[in-house]
Amino acid sequence: MTLTHLPSSEFSIETSTRPSSDGDREKILFKPGFGKYFTDHMVAIDWTLDKGWNAPRIIPYGPLMLDPASLVLHYAQAIFEGLKAYQHADGSIWAFRPELNAARFAKSAERLGLPELPKELFLQSIQQLVGIDAKWLSQIPETSLYLRPFMIADESFLGVRGAEKVAFYVIASPAGPYFENGVSSIPIWVSAHHTRAAKGGTGYAKCAGNYAGSLAPLQEARKNGCAQVLFLDAQHGQFLEELGGMNIFIVYKDGSLATPALSDSILAGVTRQSIIEIAKADGRRVDERQISLEEVRTGLANGDVTELFACGTAAVLFPISILKSHSFIDSIPNAEAAKVSLSLRQKLTDIQYGRVKMSSNWLHKLTSAHH
Ligand SMILES: *Cc1c(COP(=O)(O)O)cnc(C)c1O
Repeated sequence: MTLTHLPSSEFSIETSTRPSSDGDREKILFKPGFGKYFTDHMVAIDWTLDKGWNAPRIIPYGPLMLDPASLVLHYAQAIFEGLKAYQHADGSIWAFRPELNAARFAKSAERLGLPELPKELFLQSIQQLVGIDAKWLSQIPETSLYLRPFMIADESFLGVRGAEKVAFYVIASPAGPYFENGVSSIPIWVSAHHTRAAKGGTGYAKCAGNYAGSLAPLQEARKNGCAQVLFLDAQHGQFLEELGGMNIFIVYKDGSLATPALSDSILAGVTRQSIIEIAKADGRRVDERQISLEEVRTGLANGDVTELFACGTAAVLFPISILKSHSFIDSIPNAEAAKVSLSLRQKLTDIQYGRVKMSSNWLHKLTSAHH
């Protein structure tokens, strides 16, 4: 093992003694899927109540040593983020609006009683990891390196309180195109019994527990031939909230859009925010407001609503083909064509992959062309 201290940063670097071979990596990068393979290194930073954040380091990717009494294993004091690094045609590597992920991570931390990781440290972590594992990006279209920062309470203690010892990690996983044969539309299950988040709860935080609660409804969706779940609001059971891990938009026949207004039960997606800004720059009207399921179903029946789509970092954006529940099935006509949805998707990915130049600073350079 080689231990190097870079004078230019506080990160210590322990390089992997067994990095992937070029051949193995190329095979993986040709068909990475999603979340199956991981790069050679990871970021680890510890925090204690006494010392704060200390000793940021890059270490070989590998298993964690966790005491069985670690708070996170019992009380789910855990948060995460998800963002992608994209390689542009000249070989340089970029993150898309990572400061929004850093800010959201801080908000999630506050809600979960975890310490705030300074934004600079969040951004540096990503930069360091992508720098050392840059070989894991390729020029294959629609591929990226998915970055998963997360924070867990690793204090050994079974009492119930916020941890006084936690750890932050970033791991990276090559991601292929979400749809192997081009973007297709997806049937969605409208959950009648389960909700995702309540007023005053943790819905706006990207925390592990929110996902745990969404898995049984997801199993129900799968049993009913659907790929994802649309959750309604917990109070009335009437208003659209979001999917388990994606936000939702409605497209009207006049080309305008609507999406549920943010609240403490909806996660503020970076993709959602970007789509709103791209659509507005395009001259489209975008309303952020309360949207009832009844209103959407009526709009689909009378032709006012022409498209529905879901969006999030992992899948980017896909049109919804069917809304299905125990009591109804509504098909969206021509969901495969979904002109407005797919044009917004194209505009977003053109920016992310550097195919169009942006005047705003949505892209954050991680490495230059020669690494
Ligand atoms: C991560 C996430 C999203 C999408 O957020 P992006 O920043 O666009 O990836 C939407 N809803 C939930 C519940 C999420 O966890």
